[in-house]
Amino acid sequence: MQTSMTSRRKVLLLGSTGSIGTSALKVAQDIPDRMEIVGLAAHSSVEALVAQVRATGVKQVSLTDEAAAAKARMLLPSDVTIHVGSQGLVDLVRASDADMVLVAIVGVAGLAPAMAAIEQGKHLAVASKEILVMAGEAVMAAARRQGVNVLPVDSEHNAIFQCLEGHQGSTVRRILLTASGGPFRQLPAEQLPQVTLAQALKHPTWTMGRKITIDSATLFNKGLEMIEARWLFDVPMSRIEVVVHPQSIVHSMVEFEDHSVIAQLSHSDMCFPIQYAVTWPDRVSNHLRPLDFAQLASLSFEAPRTQDFPALELARHAGEVGGTLPAVLNAANEVAVEAFLHERTNFPAIWQTVARVMEKHQVIQHPSLDALIEVDAWARREALG
Ligand code: NDP
Repeated sequence: MQTSMTSRRKVLLLGSTGSIGTSALKVAQDIPDRMEIVGLAAHSSVEALVAQVRATGVKQVSLTDEAAAAKARMLLPSDVTIHVGSQGLVDLVRASDADMVLVAIVGVAGLAPAMAAIEQGKHLAVASKEILVMAGEAVMAAARRQGVNVLPVDSEHNAIFQCLEGHQGSTVRRILLTASGGPFRQLPAEQLPQVTLAQALKHPTWTMGRKITIDSATLFNKGLEMIEARWLFDVPMSRIEVVVHPQSIVHSMVEFEDHSVIAQLSHSDMCFPIQYAVTWPDRVSNHLRPLDFAQLASLSFEAPRTQDFPALELARHAGEVGGTLPAVLNAANEVAVEAFLHERTNFPAIWQTVARVMEKHQVIQHPSLDALIEVDAWARREALG
């Protein structure tokens, strides 16, 4: 990994109106001498974006929704450039003087702007795990070619990144991804078909966007994270394990060759990993809540219920086979989650859909980005059918 960081990072924030985006804005307020927001992007939340422009004073924004962009034009000062549509995200990256692009857009819409950032030599902070699941091989190869850092924002990967610092990758025995287990950790398997959307949206430890909250309930989130870890840290899937840790205080662990395990701990607040991705390799004082070990009743660990929650094994299989299969898993999952969010299907239909589409797919190894985009579209059509 390259170390060409400057002390005050100019950050372009994609997905600024979402859960990660608003946490990133809090971090920027907390450590203003280390983080400056220089551009913002959202899909259609025009009022929220306009308020963020007023608060940050940025001059470059993007809205993918055209009607929202037209409304923003009426509300924003004329010296603010508004980029429109999915191409607008790429144009924003190219026009921005940011040295880091924080990708926090839900789904794979962040892939094109992430690749544009790499082409421009801008460092990446990646929250959008879907883009690494879909195109991790291509993204990491492009970043290496361009000497661009890919800093993980996902709390587990940020934790692993911290645990690995100062160690040789070859000495890693296991990466231990911690999982809260979600709201249905203890629910009997036969009750899973009856769970409601409201129950699935009630995450026990994290407050997040709707899609990732459902992914946490099915454990697809952890499955996606296994594949994300495979690419970010260049480790085989066989060395990546999931450990359920309901308190979400240990954000992940690495076991080394000598059987020593290093873990990273903090309260479950995304401001921690966002800040470290931005200030890396420095640690910077902040106003985040410290851990009080006297108040922590217990930290517990257990094995995941892989039989009842097939997402983990589906993801392990997709990661092991590689090629286009992770993209298929990801796309089918996005469609199936969307159907569940609109209460068109029941909860197990999410993994049933993913399994069905994966089974139908003819895998292509080392796909180009164009092939991945085609496969993504195919899997979405199949998942709907
Ligand atoms: P949210 O749903 O809260 O926010 C998504 C953001 O992306 C919003 O700003 C939204 O704009 C924008 N957006 C959605 N679609 C598009 C699009 N097509 N083009 C441009 N912008 C778009 O999601 P989260 O913040 O929860 O998650 C973002 C990413 O980070 C996901 O990939 C998730 O897996 C990952 N992540 C999230 C964590 C969390 O704690 N929330 C933890 C770790 C990873 P608008 O408001 O206008 O719709």
